[in-house]
Amino acid sequence: MNSTQPTTFSVTFPSNAEQLARIQQHLIDWFEANGRDLPWRRTRDPYRVLVSEIMLQQTQVDRVKPKYAAFLEQFPSLEALAAATPGDVIRAWAGLGYNRRALNLQRTAQAVINDHEGRFPETPEALRNLPGIGPYTAGAVACFAFERDVAFMDTNIRRVVQRLFVGPDDTGASDRELIRIAEAAVPQGRGWIWNQAIMELGALICTASRPRCQICPLRAECRAYAAWRTADQDVFNYTPPPKPKAARAVAESKTPFTSTSRYFRGRTVDTLRQLEPGHWLALAELGPRVKPDWADADREWLLTLLHGLAADGLIELDEAGDQARLP
Ligand code: SF4
Repeated sequence: MNSTQPTTFSVTFPSNAEQLARIQQHLIDWFEANGRDLPWRRTRDPYRVLVSEIMLQQTQVDRVKPKYAAFLEQFPSLEALAAATPGDVIRAWAGLGYNRRALNLQRTAQAVINDHEGRFPETPEALRNLPGIGPYTAGAVACFAFERDVAFMDTNIRRVVQRLFVGPDDTGASDRELIRIAEAAVPQGRGWIWNQAIMELGALICTASRPRCQICPLRAECRAYAAWRTADQDVFNYTPPPKPKAARAVAESKTPFTSTSRYFRGRTVDTLRQLEPGHWLALAELGPRVKPDWADADREWLLTLLHGLAADGLIELDEAGDQARLP
């Protein structure tokens, strides 16, 4: 436990098998009655599960739904995605942001084809060896495609595990402790529905601010709720205290988004997306489309930006450094 934070709760879960069984059943019952019917919950195809998981990182469910359908129509199989040009994949990713995710997804597909004879590995450990797959995605694919009883953490799962089994958000538990608790909490043979349910609770009920404890199926068992009630806090209007930000994050938050490198990178890729496949755009035309107050003196700045995008595989620059296009 983090010694710099208040530690009024011990991380001893699970200590009571009956209570754990109750929590599991209540949450699964709630999910069966209230879980959203999302397209990626109707499949166990690892390719489709992977596409949904990569899209859902940093993008809201409602925005992902139409993009997921369109992407799978264009790239209906692992083979189709692996064989596409990177430019086609980047074009299909329009509207989702964080374009590097598109290329990582394609690299994963190519590695499954080339190194695993087109069959996804099934364990988190083996999935982690694929390019572009981190611990969360490896666990999610193992669980949601292969129904492995594994635990993994995203922000929703972390928050629910913390509150349910440890206490309020400021009663610190390390990530290692939380994953240990999450692993112990997975009901045998029901990992798929348990992990879907815990994520859904985090998305719909146990939200970061204003958790809806009054309608939560786990209220009677929840350590955070018990603590807030004991402290006579208004749990129905609960807003967690702001987390201390790293110095860099504070500095970045003072910079308007439209002045950030991420913003200009996104605009550059968006501009090149509008070209016919294979067509180049001269930097003299690209510059003013990316930066409204463009001046000739910005050329070096633009070139640095373009070299960064090219190094990430998101664009191509011609040899003279005069034109750019999608790869
Ligand atoms: S009772 Fe409240 S804090 Fe506890 S899991 Fe439910 S919504 Fe989250």
